[in-house]
Amino acid sequence: MVETSAKMTSHDFMELEEHFGAHNYHPLPVVLAKGEGVFMWDVEGKRYYDFLSAYSAVNQGHCHPKILKAMVDQASTLTLTSRAFFNDKLGVYEKFVTDFFGYEKVLPMNSGAEADETALKLCRRWGYDVKGIAKDQAKIIVCEGNFHGRTTTIISFSTDPDSYSGFGPFTPGFVTIPYNDLKALENALQDPNVAGFLVEPIQGEAGVFVPDSGYLSEAFKLCKAKNVLFIADEVQTGIARTGKLLACDHENVHPDILILGKALSGGFMPVSAVLANNDIMLTIKPGEHGSTFGGNPLACAVAVASLEVVRDEKLAENAEKMGKLFRDELGKIKSDMIELIRGKGLLNAIIIKPKNGKEAWDVCVAMKDNGLLAKPTHQHIIRFAPPLVINEAQILEAVEIIKKSILQFE
Ligand code: PLP
Repeated sequence: MVETSAKMTSHDFMELEEHFGAHNYHPLPVVLAKGEGVFMWDVEGKRYYDFLSAYSAVNQGHCHPKILKAMVDQASTLTLTSRAFFNDKLGVYEKFVTDFFGYEKVLPMNSGAEADETALKLCRRWGYDVKGIAKDQAKIIVCEGNFHGRTTTIISFSTDPDSYSGFGPFTPGFVTIPYNDLKALENALQDPNVAGFLVEPIQGEAGVFVPDSGYLSEAFKLCKAKNVLFIADEVQTGIARTGKLLACDHENVHPDILILGKALSGGFMPVSAVLANNDIMLTIKPGEHGSTFGGNPLACAVAVASLEVVRDEKLAENAEKMGKLFRDELGKIKSDMIELIRGKGLLNAIIIKPKNGKEAWDVCVAMKDNGLLAKPTHQHIIRFAPPLVINEAQILEAVEIIKKSILQFE
C-alpha cells in the first residue's frame, strides 16, 4: 500500500500518478485538494480560479451545498438498486427532468460517452422500426472536428488522429461532413438510409467553435424535411453553460434526441441522460439496453438538486451576463498573442498566436502561477469556462490574471 501523509507535497502526488497511473492525460502541474464555488486550492493551500469547471461539469460551482446535502442524505439512505427493481427516486427524477427539458421520456446513463452511444443506438433503432431503413443500412451524419467521447464507436467517426489512431477497426455507418456547412448537410441528407444527424451546438473540445447564427435552426429544418432525427449533444454546452438552458435554445430548436451529461450532477458523480419523445424512445424494449448504475437513486437525487440549483440561482442568465462582460474585458487586453476571442455565455476561448516560442501551454502555466486554471485544447486554443456562479468582481479579477499572464510574454 502507498503511504500518504499530510506532509506529502504536490511533487509527491504527481510522482504517484506518473508511476502508477496510465499516461492517457497530460495535466498542468497543479495538485488540487479542495474546491468551493469558483475556487480550487492546491495541496500547499494556494487558491486558484477554476476556469475549466471540469470541462463544464461543475457549472453549479464546486461542492454546492444544496447538491452536497441531497447527495449525503441519499447516500445514507439508498444508493443502488440496479434496474432489476423499481426505486422511489427514479420515477420522481424522470418526471422532473422530462418536464424540465420538455420531453416525454428519459433514458438515464452515467458518462457522456455512454449517453452518446445510447443516442446512436436509439437513432438506429428508430431508423429501422419507424423510418423503415433496411436491416444494418442505417447511417448517421456527423461533423468534422466532433468530440463525443472515447468509446470505440464514437472514435470511429472522430476526425482527430489522437482520438482514433491505432484503435481500429472502426464501427461503420457514419457519414462525416464539415461543421457549420448547411450545403454539405443538405447533400448528405439525400441518402434515404440516413436516420440521424448528430451535432454539438457549439464544438467544445474542438476549441469552442460557434457556428453561424441560423445554422442549428436551418439544419433542424433540413433534417425534418428528410425525416431524419436531429440529435444534439449538449453534454458540454447544455445546462446553462452558453447563457440559455440549452445551446439549442438560442435558435429555438427542440432536438428530437437530446444528450446531457456533466453538469447534470454538478460535478458530484457521473450522471448522463438521453431525452426523446415516445415515438423514438419506446422503440427500445426491455432487455435491449441498460446500465447497472444508470438511474440509481443517488444519481437521481443529485440530478434533481443540480437542476434545481441551475433554475433557482438563474445560472443561465448569469452565464449570459458574465460571458458578455468576460469577452468585453478580454477584448481590452492589448497583445498580439491574442489572435481571436470567441464563445457564447461562459463557454469561451482565445486563440493564441505563439510568440518567441511561447504557446498556449506556456500561457496556461503562467496563469496557474498567477492563480487561475485553464487548459489548452489543441495546441493554440485556451478554453475559459468558469463555474456559472461567478460574479462581476470575480470576472474582473480573473481577467486581470489572464492579462498579467499574457503580457508576461511581451
Ligand atoms: N460529448 C461532448 C460534447 C463532450 O464534450 C464530452 C466530453 O468532453 C463527451 C460527450 C463525453 O463525456 P464523458 O467524458 O463524460 O464520457
